Amino acid sequence: MQMGTMTSTEIFKKAHPGDRTLLTEVESKALVQEAGIPVVPTHLARNKSQAARIAQALGLPVVMKVVSPEVVHKSDVGGVKTGLRSLRQVRAAYDDLVASTRKALPSASILGVAVQRMAPPGVEVILGAFRNPEFGHVVMFGLGGVMVEVLQDVSLRLVPLTRRDARQMVREIKGFSLLNGYRQHPPCDILALEEALLNLSLFLEKHPEVKELDLNPVFCYPQGILAVDARVVLEEVNPNT
Ligand code: ADP
Ligand code: MG
Repeated sequence: MQMGTMTSTEIFKKAHPGDRTLLTEVESKALVQEAGIPVVPTHLARNKSQAARIAQALGLPVVMKVVSPEVVHKSDVGGVKTGLRSLRQVRAAYDDLVASTRKALPSASILGVAVQRMAPPGVEVILGAFRNPEFGHVVMFGLGGVMVEVLQDVSLRLVPLTRRDARQMVREIKGFSLLNGYRQHPPCDILALEEALLNLSLFLEKHPEVKELDLNPVFCYPQGILAVDARVVLEEVNPNT
C-alpha cells in the first residue's frame, strides 16, 4: 500500500510487456516520485474501509479518484471527488466514484480508488513529454487549464535538457508573468520547476519505453511544487522484436 515500495523496474515489469500501456495514476505517480519530482501522497484503496483507513492515515481532507486502466480522463466519467472532509464522506465517495464510472463506461474494469492528500491551491502548470519516433523524447511545459488547451502557450525541448533549456522553457511561455508574481500574488518557485524539468529529462533518458507522460496539473507554490495528477503511457511491445 505504501507508495514508493514498488521500484520503477517492478512497475514497468508489472504492466509491460503485456496488454496494458496506460499506467494507473498510482503507478504513474510512483514513477514520477522516483524521478525526483514531488507528488502528492497517493495510495490505492480496493474497498471503502481501506479507503477510510488510508484517509485517516493521510489526514483529512482528501481527494479520491477512480483507478481504471480504461479511464484516461477521470473527470470525464465523474471519477474525481475533492475536498472530502469526513470518513463518512470518504466511504460514500468510494461507492459514488465506482457507480458513476460504471455508468459512463460500463466496460471499464475498476481496480479501486486512489486516495490522496488534498493539496493547497497553487498556480497550475503542466509538465509533459511524448516520444517522437525520429527525434526521441520531447519535454513540454505550459500553464494549466485554458492557457494550454485554448492558447496552446507551451514550450518544447528535446531530451536531454540542459539547465539553460530548463530556464528558457519556463521563461519563454507567454504567461510567464503569472508565474513570476503579479499584483498581490507571490511568485512561484521557478527553480523547483526547472529542477523538475531536468529530472523529467533524466528519467526519460533512462526509460525509452515511455511513450507519453502527463503531469496535469502540477501546483506551483512560493516554495516548492506538487504534482496532483500523473499519467504515463508506455510504448506498445512488438511481439516480433
Ligand atoms: P483528470 O484525470 O480528469 O485529469 P485530475 O487528477 O487532474 O483528473 O483531477 C481533476 C482536478 O482536480 C485537477 O485538475 C485539480 O484541480 C483537482 N485535483 C486533483 N487532485 C488533487 C489533489 N490531490 N489536491 C487538490 N486538488 C486536486
Ligand atoms: Mg489531470
